[in-house]
Amino acid sequence: MTESPYRTIIEPFRIHSVEPLRMTTRVERVERLSAAGYNLFRLYSDDVLVDLLTDSGTGAMSAEQWAGIQRGNESYAGAPSFYRFRHAVTELFPFRHVLPTHQGRAAEKILFSAIGGAGKVVPNNTHFDTTRANIEFTGAEAVDLPIPEGRDARDRHPFKGNLDVTALEQLLVHRGDDVPLVMVTVTNNAGGGQPVSLANLRAVREVCERYGKPLFLDACRFAENAWFIKTREPGYADIAVPDIVREMASLADGMTMSAKKDPLANIGGWLALDDDGLAEQCRTLEILTEGFPTYGGLAGRDLEAIAQGLTECVQEDYLRYRIRSTAYLGEALEAAGVPVVVPFGGSAVFLDARALLPQIPPLEYPGQALACALYVEGGIRACEIGTVMFGRQPDGSEQPAVMDLVRLAIPRRTYTQSHIDFTIEVLTRVAARAGELRGLQIIEEPPRLRHFTAGFAPLG
Ligand SMILES: *Cc1c(COP(=O)(O)O)cnc(C)c1O
Repeated sequence: MTESPYRTIIEPFRIHSVEPLRMTTRVERVERLSAAGYNLFRLYSDDVLVDLLTDSGTGAMSAEQWAGIQRGNESYAGAPSFYRFRHAVTELFPFRHVLPTHQGRAAEKILFSAIGGAGKVVPNNTHFDTTRANIEFTGAEAVDLPIPEGRDARDRHPFKGNLDVTALEQLLVHRGDDVPLVMVTVTNNAGGGQPVSLANLRAVREVCERYGKPLFLDACRFAENAWFIKTREPGYADIAVPDIVREMASLADGMTMSAKKDPLANIGGWLALDDDGLAEQCRTLEILTEGFPTYGGLAGRDLEAIAQGLTECVQEDYLRYRIRSTAYLGEALEAAGVPVVVPFGGSAVFLDARALLPQIPPLEYPGQALACALYVEGGIRACEIGTVMFGRQPDGSEQPAVMDLVRLAIPRRTYTQSHIDFTIEVLTRVAARAGELRGLQIIEEPPRLRHFTAGFAPLG
């Protein structure tokens, strides 16, 4: 790795076109939040100043990606854009079949329609919300098997995203026949954006082989995960990021992917796999809902943007800046005494709302209360990752989630250091008055993925 004598790690780009931000007053924000049913997904995004709701599809594309948009070929079948896309994917993930989809969840829907169903069980380090929902929608069960350190917000294990290999083996001993495949999410988004080590992937692979189970990666943040491997796992400091990615891929039989994350595109995803029979089944399902397998719900121009983004997201200057700028936010909040999940993940800083707001019990949604307070105070939009997102059980009952977190997701290449400094100030001010915050109740919710649309009312 090339070492720089300077502490400041600069953005490895300059700004090419800008989007103005609209300032709002506190009175306006109070009114907008109430009109949105205290659900930040229901806000008009022009009423948000710094939008940290998600890093999904919200990144800034490069000049080369926009040039790719112009090169997009919109032939229905066999477009050159598809072959450029497939080449870029297989350079990093050399699977035999690559099926483009409009998003990651479409890849999940296709995969689990083919291999899910009642009585099946799918283990993962921690299922992402759409992954869990797509599994449960088929009648199958989604099981989270993070290592114990992954459930402790303050444990500094360098690979808190790891899957608990002993628990996986127990599941396979007891219910092996019901497990169609094993998944590992890199990085573990729902578990705090934490990375998975190659040693853990190898151990999972070994168990999968012994029980004859395919291993699939939910690889949305593979490049950030590879950077953590390079910087934290012994023996990888001098290995190039694309080689680390290929080593991750070599341990798996397939992957689901959202191009809205590390590939730096605004839309897209894919399903890739080696098994010819399963690929055939998936292609048939793909045609039903996504489209012909050389465009899969995307325009040719989107495939070009993804192909270019894949070459940019594994560049070391980019990853060094990316991971450093996330840690910058986390370190400042930690220094200000705000409880945060450590170590910091790649794409987001997670606030421990349960620790900051002990007066609000989990079933009164401390994460949602904190996210609402950040919006009212400074127009910052964050995302609850806790009991609102995961508390509702398939039988309709409600349980506290493992943790009540608020995710400050950092869109890629989008905000500058002063936006982040402003965010730190707002958070510090909210944390100083945390004792005044009250919980919420849900007044309307759909049966699945309720966090996107539920309506809330403040308590007290
Ligand atoms: C975003 C995401 C998905 C789903 O991808 P979409 O493109 O949003 O449908 C699946 N898994 C993980 C880990 C994700 O972060």
